[in-house]
Formats: sequence, structure tokens, C-alpha cells
Amino acid sequence: MKILVTGGTGYIGSHTCVELLESGYEVVIVDNLCNSKEEVVDFIKEITHKDVTFYKGDVCDKKLMQKIFKENKIDAVIHFAGLKAVGESVEMPLYYYRNNIGSTITLCEVMNEYNCKKIVFSSSATVYGSPHKLPIKEDFPLEATNPYGRTKLYNEGILNDLYVADNNWSVALLRYFNPIGAHPSGLIGENPNDIPNNLMPYIVKVATKELEILNIFGNDYNTKDGTGVRDYIHVVDLAKAHVKAIDEVLKTKGVDIYNLGTGHGYSVLEIVETFKKVNKVDVPYQIVARRAGDIDACYADATYAKEKLHWEATKEIEEMCQDSYNFAIKYKNKHNN
Ligand code: NAD
Ligand code: UDP
Repeated sequence: MKILVTGGTGYIGSHTCVELLESGYEVVIVDNLCNSKEEVVDFIKEITHKDVTFYKGDVCDKKLMQKIFKENKIDAVIHFAGLKAVGESVEMPLYYYRNNIGSTITLCEVMNEYNCKKIVFSSSATVYGSPHKLPIKEDFPLEATNPYGRTKLYNEGILNDLYVADNNWSVALLRYFNPIGAHPSGLIGENPNDIPNNLMPYIVKVATKELEILNIFGNDYNTKDGTGVRDYIHVVDLAKAHVKAIDEVLKTKGVDIYNLGTGHGYSVLEIVETFKKVNKVDVPYQIVARRAGDIDACYADATYAKEKLHWEATKEIEEMCQDSYNFAIKYKNKHNN
């Protein structure tokens, strides 16, 4: 079975390609490298000792997508390709709508053309907005609080409409909580070029002394220690869930929605302290004002994924912190030598 992975050289996509290959699937990647590097293709091959077909290009480019489907008999698609910086989406909404929604429309048009109607889509816990209670279940009310979140909601809607119009579609909407960590090989991981927006890549850059100090956005939230609480999930656990979702969409029809998290919430201070302890490094921090739009706490009820996909996260927060740092150190050594 051959799976097309859009955004496959990105952070979650690359780990998913590894898990797909290790589960016996063949993998075709399309990525325009706007937020990743081509070397990742070689790292995926190095980890798995398997071959991968790579197309450099944009999912919005219909001719390219038709060429890919013509040259490969694609059985299902995992659609990761998208822009993901919330702040940037507020500044450049049209860029986000064009890229994140335009790519889905083009992809699905070409899938229809080639009668490939099985898709796994990367959604996000951001679609729950400010949840009215915790843990979050899949049937909670949905709300977008910024253009990035709206692209996720619209894409979910588009895929749902496709199924309503044609019951041959099989769609899995995966709502990720907070992916961190890296492959234990240290070959692939998250490596933002700019100053990171998210907590873990920022902590890593402070630990490696590329940034001076971590700003903790507020300690007056209604949480155990006043800092924000999130459901951090190891990216390898998350990648494994995609293989289960692909197994499922290949054998069913319909639309299914899954929360992918551990079900446990950790505060910013707990993450910082764990990171310092397991990696034996210092992470200087200061408390600053709250970041606009942040919520107190967010963690998943992932029971449905356990029941339906027989998947659950297994890796603990210590391993997530270790693997994040290990990747950063390896990456730094490799590129400085
Ligand atoms: P990433 O930026 O590392 O990977 C996305 C990849 O898509 C990149 O390699 C980028 O070059 C590529 N891409 C973007 N637009 C493209 C286009 N039009 N055509 C071809 N390639 C394109 O991000 P990630 O963290 O791996 O996220 C993957 C998906 O998961 C995204 O859709 C993101 O919104 C979603 N998601 C991520 C998180 C998170 O915290 N990382 C949380 C929830 C949802
Ligand atoms: N956070 C922080 N400093 C940073 C980045 C994030 O204190 O430099 C906090 C943020 O306020 C939130 C948590 O860390 O409580 C996770 O933030 P992230 O941006 O990683 O994920 P999201 O807010 O999208 O869940």
C-alpha cells in the first residue's frame, strides 16, 4: 500500500513517514520545503533502511499533484502540509487561507480525479478554542480564535462536506494536542529557523545558549502553579497514531474524529524543571505578562482513539524532554562541524 504524505519532511510528517515505512507501507512525500529541509528525506531512509519517493513542490500546484498521482498508485493520503504559526496567521490571514485551505481543495480535487478517497488530516486542539471543561472530548463545541485555527476548522468542514456529497470518502480528522520530543536516533526532530513560538523549542534554544532566557507567559492562571497547563505528547507516539488511522481509513468509509494526546496536563514550570533535571542543564527563565489568546489549561480525553484505533500514548514527559534536547545537540554538532 502506497501512502502520499504531504508535508512529509516537516516535524510530525517525517516521524510519521518513519513509522509508516517501519509498518510496511510505501511512502511518497510532497513538500515545498517552506519549513523543512530536503536532508530529512535521507534521514528517514537512514533510520528505516527503506526507500522513499520525494517530490519538491507545492500541494496547491494542481499539475504537480496530478503528476504525482499519475506516476504513483496512491492508496491513501496523510495531509500535513500547512503553515502553523498562530501570530503570523493573524498578520497574514490571506497567506494562511490560500496555503492551508487552497492546498486541501487542490489535493481533494486531484484525489477525486484519481478515485483515491481516503485521507487522514492534521487538525489541532486549537479547534476547541477555550474549552468549557476538561478533559476535552471530540464532541465539545468548536471555536476558532485566530486565522490558523479557522483554517483547521474550515478544512475539517470541507472534508466532512466531501463525505456528505460522496459516501465513498473515508476521512480521519486527527486533533493533536502539544507534540514535542524527537526520534530517539536524534536524526529528525523539530528545528525552527526563527525564534520559536512554542514552549519546547524555546526551552531547547535557551538550554543550548542560542537564546538567553525563557519568558514564561504568566503565573496567575487558574492552574496548579499558576502557569499554563497543556497535554504534551511525544511525536513518535503521535506518528504511530497516524499509522493506526491509515489502517482504519483504508478499511472503512465515513468521517471519524480523534483527539490525540496523553490525557495528562503539565504546567510550564513542570516542563522546565523536568527538562533541567533529565538533561542536567540550566534553563534560566523569567515570568512575564500573559500571551494574548492563551488559555489556562488544555488536555485531552483520548478514550475514543484507544477504543477505535487501539492506540494510546506510551512515552512519559521525561523521555520527551530528553529526546528534544538530544536532537538539538546532535543537530548543532553536525552543522557546526
Ligand atoms: P512543519 O512546519 O514542521 O511541517 C509542515 C510541512 O509542510 C513543512 O515541511 C512545510 O515545508 C510543508 N508545507 C507547508 N505548506 C506546503 C504546501 N503548500 N505545499 C507543500 N508543502 C507545504 O509542521 P508540523 O509541526 O509537522 O505540523 C504538521 C501539521 O500538523 C500542520 O498542518 C500543523 O498545522 C498541524 N499541527 C501541528 C501542531 C504542532 O504543534 N506541531 C499541532 C497541531 C496541528
Ligand atoms: N509558553 C511560555 N513561553 C514561551 C512559549 C510558550 O510560557 O516562550 C507557554 C504558553 O503560555 C502555554 C504553554 O507554554 O501555556 C504552551 O505553549 P505553546 O505555544 O507551546 O502551545 P499552545 O499554547 O499552542 O498550546
